[in-house]
Amino acid sequence: MIDLHTHTTASDGTYSPGELIQAAVAARLDALAITDHDTFAGYEEALPSAMATGLELICGIELSTKMPVPGRPRGKSVHLLGYFPVKPPSEEFREWIHLLQESRRDRNRRLASRLQELGLEITLEEVVEVGRSMAGRPHFARVLMEKRYVATLQEAFDKYLDESAEAYVEREEPSLAEGIRRITDGGGVPSIAHPIRLGRRTPQQEEDLIRQMSKMGLLAIEAYHSDHGPRELERYQLLARRYGLAVTGGTDFHGDAKPGLKVGTGRENNVSVPNKVLDRLKQLVRS
Ligand code: AMP
Ligand code: FE
Ligand code: FE
Ligand code: ZN
Repeated sequence: MIDLHTHTTASDGTYSPGELIQAAVAARLDALAITDHDTFAGYEEALPSAMATGLELICGIELSTKMPVPGRPRGKSVHLLGYFPVKPPSEEFREWIHLLQESRRDRNRRLASRLQELGLEITLEEVVEVGRSMAGRPHFARVLMEKRYVATLQEAFDKYLDESAEAYVEREEPSLAEGIRRITDGGGVPSIAHPIRLGRRTPQQEEDLIRQMSKMGLLAIEAYHSDHGPRELERYQLLARRYGLAVTGGTDFHGDAKPGLKVGTGRENNVSVPNKVLDRLKQLVRS
């Protein structure tokens, strides 16, 4: 069994890279991919402990992209996973990731100002203390909770941080098409993350979106995910076959930032990703 979607303290998870490796070994996983948001730092830090334990560690990343949709000027936010199971990402790809990190820092500055405008006493420095180089909205949420502006992390999103909430500020994000192209050119396999979150649509609309994505060069779809039930798993496997996509899968483990979810097995054992999923990804890169 494997888990190809996890986060560490290098982005918005609460397990350090070393702790995540220990948890994966305890769960008896054969392979683990670290897919932090916009950074390889967690993967790189975890490499020595993975080697020491014999766990196969896969290099991955999760990017926030925008897909154009009719009637929505800001487009639709789509998370895109990138996997580099055979060779490390190209230097050009790494440089591009640094640009994404800069756009995140710029967004964070504006988000802190916006919250201050709304009368909240919160500074960028306080958030950066929690989230360090990869501070993001989950870290804003944690500070808002510590300061008792909200009772839960979810309330922080609902009241202030969600796309539809009061303090939301736009972030400059690459288009989905660019993300797909950059990952492929960088030597990786692009996979659409948790497709269930593409939105509450009819099955036909969802299928149209996935067809569009496959035309953009998408190579895989995350069929196994802790937010998917058995029906979703089956549906995304079917769509993968129909559009010639590989499937990927993982829990989206974030440690205590997403309570109730275990690495490798998800929520009450609702995730189980077979090893052949990784074999297929490797074939894709080599072909
Ligand atoms: P960022 O990349 O800094 O914009 O933060 C995005 C992360 O915040 C996502 O990966 C989720 O973990 C979390 N997030 C985004 N929207 C919500 C929401 N409405 N409720 C809870 N968590 C959210
Ligand atoms: Fe996250
Ligand atoms: Fe995601
Ligand atoms: Zn994720």
